[in-house]
Amino acid sequence: MDNIHRDAVVIGAGISGLVCAYRLISSGADVLLIESSDRVGGVIRSETIDDHLIERGPNSSQGTTEFLRLVSELEIDAELVEGDPKAPAFVYFDGKIRPVPNGPGTFLTTSALSLSGKVRLLAEPFIAARADGGEESIASFAERRIGKEAAERLVGSFVSGIYAGDPRRISVQAAFPRLAALEAEHGGLIRGAIAKGRQAKKSKTIAPGPTPKRSVSFRTGMSFLPETLARKIGESLLLECSGIRISTEGGSSRYIIEFGSAAGDQIVTCDQLILATPAWAAASLTKKIAPELATLLDEIEYPPLAILYVDYAENSLGESLKGFGFLVAPSEDTPVLGCVWNSSLFPGRAPKGRTLLTVFMGGARHPQAASYEDAELISIANTELQRALRANAPPRVIGITRHQRAIPQYNLGHRDRVGRIESILAAMPGLMLTGNYLHGVSTGDCIKEAERIAKCCHRGQ
Ligand SMILES: Cc1cc2nc3c(=O)[nH]c(=O)nc-3n(C[C@H](O)[C@H](O)[C@H](O)COP(=O)(O)OP(=O)(O)OC[C@H]3O[C@@H](n4cnc5c(N)ncnc54)[C@H](O)[C@@H]3O)c2cc1C
Repeated sequence: MDNIHRDAVVIGAGISGLVCAYRLISSGADVLLIESSDRVGGVIRSETIDDHLIERGPNSSQGTTEFLRLVSELEIDAELVEGDPKAPAFVYFDGKIRPVPNGPGTFLTTSALSLSGKVRLLAEPFIAARADGGEESIASFAERRIGKEAAERLVGSFVSGIYAGDPRRISVQAAFPRLAALEAEHGGLIRGAIAKGRQAKKSKTIAPGPTPKRSVSFRTGMSFLPETLARKIGESLLLECSGIRISTEGGSSRYIIEFGSAAGDQIVTCDQLILATPAWAAASLTKKIAPELATLLDEIEYPPLAILYVDYAENSLGESLKGFGFLVAPSEDTPVLGCVWNSSLFPGRAPKGRTLLTVFMGGARHPQAASYEDAELISIANTELQRALRANAPPRVIGITRHQRAIPQYNLGHRDRVGRIESILAAMPGLMLTGNYLHGVSTGDCIKEAERIAKCCHRGQ
């Protein structure tokens, strides 16, 4: 049995763990990254089926400064593909898709809102800010500020799209802190947006780093990023590690990690231990060393999701697929949450003359749908796509993915829970958590947070 010491051990090789390990190694630390499965990337997983490039996890990422800086450092800019920044997104209700307003003027002309819905939305600056400062759901916040119709069609559908969540349970302060801050600091959303615009003009400072892009991926799919990171990390990455157990060295803040690997049973000690797994996996890893922490981590909800990959002949759709895709307003009686138009967004996603669409079903409001039989999922997708896209032929479903636990929910109470998690960690030097359940679910947020944690470790060395 090997018994070695490392400066840091990172557990979990999704994007969070890979970025954290890569940054630590780049800063000169001796790091081991251990992963239980036989591949890297976690939920990021691109595959080719019948000449269609499908994504079992994220279809794209926002090109945040951190994301683009990483891409540039890895020298993979040439592999990056960018979605048309002007590609419209649509919202689906009453049997039709309608373009989502994407600028101040388009709020007046959009068919996504009725006249009374537009008037109510434009009254937003005259709605008094909430004074008590308490936590509020995004549905209640949006209804109060912009009215029920805009809240439902523009905000509710968006919440389903990002979190597969329930807008009545997702906390505006935890999931959309910038929106909450606009009201708290400027009295409202429109006032806040105007003030921010003025501030930006006045200061005339250009943020350092690459200019953010709305939507990016790679020529061969999202997996290209984790696979590149894994190549850079090289032999410091161990896949298929089993039975990982964590303990502390009698009274010290040194951690002992025991696990099985292809090279046999291993014991590694380290001064910095970073858990980059989903919250429920971090809960089971920390049960022995920090039971209270484990209980808090276990409380974070991850609803299930089913994803269907659908191929149509281009000429069998009544709607031209020029855009990002559509999100479904929560008022619709369907478990479909939305549909990404992959072949319109990025090149090389479907063969010539064909399209690739990705349909999401289930989530917090329809958890049962994720366990429907394939035939039932296909029949629901068929009905909704026929309505929404006026398809005149049934789709060919080329694959289905089921995530039993997909995306962590930033529900009411989440901020408080994260605060308690962080105060427990503050009393356990050397133990750190990173991942999508803490400070943002998007890949861009995961990269930013993993880099922050790597910096904290580096300082602690
Ligand atoms: C279906 C879906 C669609 C999404 N769409 C988008 C999108 O369009 N845009 C966007 O920005 N974001 C999207 N996201 C969110 C984003 O992709 C994720 O939040 C992010 O990739 C999570 O990365 P992570 O490394 O924190 O976690 P994960 O990807 O979950 O990685 C955790 C890793 O830990 C490993 N692990 C688990 N338990 C153990 C253990 N005990 N020991 C060792 N290893 C362990 C896992 O095998 C995995 O490799 C989507 C997510 C999902 C699920």
